[in-house]
Amino acid sequence: MEEGKGRKIIMFPLPFVGHFNPMIQLARIFHHRGFSVTILHTSFNFPDPSHYPLFTFRTIPHNNAGGEDPMTQPDVSSMDLVAFIRLLRQTYAEPFRQSLAAEVGREKTVCCLVYDAVWVRNTEVAAEELGIRRMVLITQGVASFCAFAALPLLRDKNYLHIQASRLHELVTEVPPLKVKDLPVMETNEPEEFYLIATDMVKGANSSSGVICNTFEDLERLSLMDISSKSQVPIFPIGPFHKHNDNVLPTTKNIEDHVTTNWLNKQEPESVIYVSFGSLADIEEKELLKIAWGLRNSERPFLWVVRPGFVRGTEWLEALPSGFVENIGQKGKFVKWVNQLEVLAHSAVGAFWTHCGWNSTLESICEGVPMICTPCFTDQFVNARYIVDVWRIGIELERTKMDKKEIERVLRSIISKEGDGIREMCSELKERANVCLRKDGSSSKYLDKLVNYVMSFDSNALAS
Ligand code: UDP
Repeated sequence: MEEGKGRKIIMFPLPFVGHFNPMIQLARIFHHRGFSVTILHTSFNFPDPSHYPLFTFRTIPHNNAGGEDPMTQPDVSSMDLVAFIRLLRQTYAEPFRQSLAAEVGREKTVCCLVYDAVWVRNTEVAAEELGIRRMVLITQGVASFCAFAALPLLRDKNYLHIQASRLHELVTEVPPLKVKDLPVMETNEPEEFYLIATDMVKGANSSSGVICNTFEDLERLSLMDISSKSQVPIFPIGPFHKHNDNVLPTTKNIEDHVTTNWLNKQEPESVIYVSFGSLADIEEKELLKIAWGLRNSERPFLWVVRPGFVRGTEWLEALPSGFVENIGQKGKFVKWVNQLEVLAHSAVGAFWTHCGWNSTLESICEGVPMICTPCFTDQFVNARYIVDVWRIGIELERTKMDKKEIERVLRSIISKEGDGIREMCSELKERANVCLRKDGSSSKYLDKLVNYVMSFDSNALAS
C-alpha cells in the first residue's frame, strides 16, 4: 500500500523490551502502509539496527557533561524502576530535543512523532517548538490506562495508602478492580511514580491522538471510558504482532532450536511455560518455591530465568545442588526464548506469567490459559481482567505463593478443571483473529489512523 508514500514518521520508544517491541511492530504497520520510519533511540539499550533493516535508526546521545553514560554506571541495574525512569527522562530530555530538531531539519517530509506515553514531558515541548504533531503509543492495556487516569481521585479517597485489611474490597470508582489490583509499585520514590503515571495521562490528553495495542472486543468498556473522558481520537488497532506485516519468519539461534526440539517431544497442551517478562525480579526464596512447586506438580515445564531475575545471583545457583539434574528432561531452564513461538507451540498448555501487557496479549492470541502472578503496576490490573472479566486464567498471588498452592494451581489449570477456561481462551483467540480481518474493528481503525496521519501537514502544526 502506498498511502503514506513520501511521508516520514519519527518514533521515540522507551528503551525496554516491553515498550520497544510494540513500537517496532507499529513501525512495521506504518511502513507497510507506505510511510518511512526513523527511530530515535537512547544510547542506553541501543538495539542492533541490522535486525530492523526497514527503518533508519538514530542514537540520542546521553546528556552528561563528564562524558560517562549515566545509564551504564554500576549502580543503575540495582536502582528501583521509578528512579531509573526518572533518570532516563532527565538524561535524555535535552538530547532528544536536539535530535528531533536535527531530524526535522534534515527531512522536510516528517508528518508526526509517535512516542511512548512515558516520555511525555520530554516530547511535548520539543514537538511543539518544531510544529510537529504528537501521537502517543500506550503500550499497556486500556483498562490499566483508565486506572492510571483515576489515580488523582483514588489518592483523594485515600486508596493509595492501602491497609492490609482492605485489600480485597472492590474499588467502586474503577470496577472490577479490588484495592490490591490498583496499579502501584514498591518504590522509594512514590511521588515520582504518581507524577510519571499522571503525566502519561495528561500527555495523552493533550496529544493529537492515542494509538493502543488492544482490540475493541477485548476492552470495549475501557475504550468507551477513555473516549468519553478524552477529547483526542483513540485508535485501538491491536494486537500489533498479529498484523500481516508483523508475522515474519524469525531467525533462530541454537538455543531456540534446542527449545523447539524439546517442545516437539512433549504431549499436546501439557507444558507449563513460565516467564515473568524482561523487568520483574524475585527473591531467592521465591525461586525455591516456584522450583519445588513446578517439580511437585509433575507437569513438564519450560522456565525462563533471565540472568538477574533472582536478586543477587547470576542464574540458577540458588537452586539446591542436583535439582536441575534431577528434573532431567521433565523441565527446561532457559535464559530467554522466542516467546511468540513458544506460545504458538501446540505442546504449551498454560502460561505462568507476570501479566505484562505484551505477554497477556500474546497469550490471548494463541488461546493459552494463564496463571497470573502480577508483580507491579498495570500487571495487577491485567491479572484482574484475565481472571474475572475474560475468565482465561487463575490467580496465584505472589504473596500467597507456597509450593503446595503452586502445585494445586498448576495441576488444576492443565487438568479438566481448566476446561471452562480453555473454552473462553478459544473464543477470545477467535475474536482477536476477527478484529484483524479486512472488515474487523482493528483494520477499520488502522484505515482511520492512516487517513488521520495523512491529513497532518508535513513539518507543520495543523490548527
Ligand atoms: N519475551 C521474549 N522472551 C522471553 C521473555 C519475554 O520474547 O524469554 C518478550 C515477550 O514476548 C514480550 C516482552 O518480552 O513481548 C515482554 O513484555 P511484557 O509487556 O509482557 O512484560 P515486561 O517485560 O514489559 O514486564
